[in-house]
Amino acid sequence: MSLQEILSGAEGSPVVEVEEPREFHWSASQVSTFRDCPRKWFFERVLRRSKPDSPAALFGQKVHKLREDWFREGKMPLGDSAEAKCARAGLDELPMPTEGVEFHVERFFRHRTPVRNVVGLIDLYFPEGADGESRPLVIDHKTTGDEAWVKSESDLASGDPQSAIYSQVAMDETGSRVVDLFWHYIIKKRRPTTVPVRLTVTRAESDDAYGACVSDAKKMLTIFTSGCKNSQSIEYNLDSCEAYGGCPFRGECKVDNQVKIERMRKMGEGALEALLSGFEKKKEALQEVVPPDAPAPDLSAAEPAPKKGRSGSKSSRPSKTKLKQRREFVEACVLAQLRGRVDESAQDVVDYALAVADALDEALG
Ligand code: SF4
Repeated sequence: MSLQEILSGAEGSPVVEVEEPREFHWSASQVSTFRDCPRKWFFERVLRRSKPDSPAALFGQKVHKLREDWFREGKMPLGDSAEAKCARAGLDELPMPTEGVEFHVERFFRHRTPVRNVVGLIDLYFPEGADGESRPLVIDHKTTGDEAWVKSESDLASGDPQSAIYSQVAMDETGSRVVDLFWHYIIKKRRPTTVPVRLTVTRAESDDAYGACVSDAKKMLTIFTSGCKNSQSIEYNLDSCEAYGGCPFRGECKVDNQVKIERMRKMGEGALEALLSGFEKKKEALQEVVPPDAPAPDLSAAEPAPKKGRSGSKSSRPSKTKLKQRREFVEACVLAQLRGRVDESAQDVVDYALAVADALDEALG
């Protein structure tokens, strides 16, 4: 039986599920995620791990839908729900579509770029301005719980992926060399308020920011087409783990040990900080202990972690030789960790390092 017959469901043929070949395209939100943490982007876009929508995201989607109904059908968002109040907030600050003026609500675009297509959805778009006689106007509704998240004009003009991409798309489509952007922020509270952020962008002004997006798209495409399925080989950024309510891929990412070490460093309590800062000086000696091609340390052979309790009696303290050995062990483990050769079972490394740091503090302090 030919493949064609199988696919066309010839009688008696087995049911075959054929995975659609996936086409690479990119978007402003992909660029933002990739910049936050390349590995997070990899989980979402390459491994296609599902990501639950946060309550804030779900709320924003409802507000968007209500505004869409208003602009598309003139249906006023009525009622006392928080979503309706937010959707109504500041509506008079936005231009209303008038007869004879071209406008688009939730306008999807797929736009050719030097790196495949960029896709997106513009909330409200007037290709020739709200009066139908001027430059393109791009409007985006934003819902946030805190005014601190509102982006200023200069934020939007200098490197923001969404404003850069939407500007270029609008200018390419209309032939205009300038575009008006209007980001309408709705601040969610009992009585919602709004912050309108307006700016005009020229092509020259958005070229750099857009070029940076294209450059990131190129990196994403390289990873996408490499066939790599191993998240551990993708760069990561620990600063993003706690953002937006916590990364949903933490379990699979296996960076909790690094996160703990990072926390310990930030705690500034001295012990591990001192160990890490001494690395450069001791690099050569340490490389003898843990040569670059050595296997990960055998943690089962490690000494049991000392008890954290502090009796204060001299006899309960580890000897100086013991401390020196432990210090070397921790240095070797951390060095190996930094080289990325300790796997998830190295939880013990961190516990051990914490305990030793505690003992060191006690002995030295
Ligand atoms: S857990 Fe942290 S490092 Fe891992 S993918 Fe998420 S943000 Fe990136």
